[in-house]
Amino acid sequence: MTRALNFNAGPAALPEAVLQEAQKHLLNFNGTGMSVMELSHRSKDYEEVHVGAQQQLRKLLAISEKYEILLLQGGASLQFSMIPLNLLTKGKIGHYVLTGSWSEKALKEAKKVGPTSILASSKEDQYRSIPSIKIEQLEGDGAYLHITSNNTIYGTEWKTYPSSSIPLIADMSSDILSKRINVDQFGLIYAGAQKNLGPSGLTVVIMKKDLISTPPDHLPTMLSYETYSKNQSLYNTPPTFAIYLLKLVLDWVESEGGVEVIEKRNQEKAKLLYDVIDKSDSFYSGHAKPDSRSNMNVTFTLPSEEKTKEFLHLAQEKGFVGLNGHRSVGGCRASIYNAVPVDHVAQLAEFMKWFQVRS
Ligand code: PMP
Repeated sequence: MTRALNFNAGPAALPEAVLQEAQKHLLNFNGTGMSVMELSHRSKDYEEVHVGAQQQLRKLLAISEKYEILLLQGGASLQFSMIPLNLLTKGKIGHYVLTGSWSEKALKEAKKVGPTSILASSKEDQYRSIPSIKIEQLEGDGAYLHITSNNTIYGTEWKTYPSSSIPLIADMSSDILSKRINVDQFGLIYAGAQKNLGPSGLTVVIMKKDLISTPPDHLPTMLSYETYSKNQSLYNTPPTFAIYLLKLVLDWVESEGGVEVIEKRNQEKAKLLYDVIDKSDSFYSGHAKPDSRSNMNVTFTLPSEEKTKEFLHLAQEKGFVGLNGHRSVGGCRASIYNAVPVDHVAQLAEFMKWFQVRS
């Protein structure tokens, strides 16, 4: 069977080689006569998967020993709460930059925990850009500065990260592992796995060890980073199969040549689509301002609602999946995460050109 031309925003395309590998070992992993799903999470065979995934991520992103890699559940959305519950300690302020719905949601949860401030926002600009920020405006005793590195819905992405005296926290759900980063710039990075890392059900947190401290007594055990850190993310049963797929995806990234190669490929893929938009004489309008464009989520509109509907309908007929924009903003969105092949993006670019000519 041929694989779908999958442009879903998440859960999203996984590398075909990873799915084949998982299929090959589904009934008998490592000679155990069981699938990974059936292994005890306390077994030696599973431990190798668990630790192997953490080590491979450490290697690919050059994460130093100053950082802990935690494997959690609850999606990126639970991190919106866990971050303030653990780090927004008495007398401190959680600073947020608003660049879309996900950062708004992160802020909403923090407000339930303690004082917050909005350092900058591009809301008035319909979240078309990453706002410039004035670090000197960080007032009071800041606990952290929170950003969303890639805005999945609006299709914008930070190109450089702010630096200040307080820990920088980034929701990298939709661009982790898509490009090289310097982890040392961050206090904490978190990501739901279902875009660039694997299936849903797993959240990866990369956290500076010195930010992990004994939580207040009232904090439930499962909401404390210390619990995961002290127990190698095995305090309770982790999502073992999702972690296994994470390991396979990370091995795939390495076999492709590592994050640097993936980054170049992602730039090439994004350029294919942005070039069509830019050369379309405004038939296609990109939502994001050029200097804030995401290499992961390409968002655009057509001249009318009617044309958009026709475009999406015909695209679906030709086998393109997931091109409708997020339900909150409409329009179109092509999510081109690591596992989406260049060839699929080239086919979409050709389809867009063909659709414009026939219109
Ligand atoms: N942050 C970003 C940037 C996202 O794209 C998403 C999901 N699309 C979330 C947070 C929420 O993630 P989850 O569904 O894993 O809670």
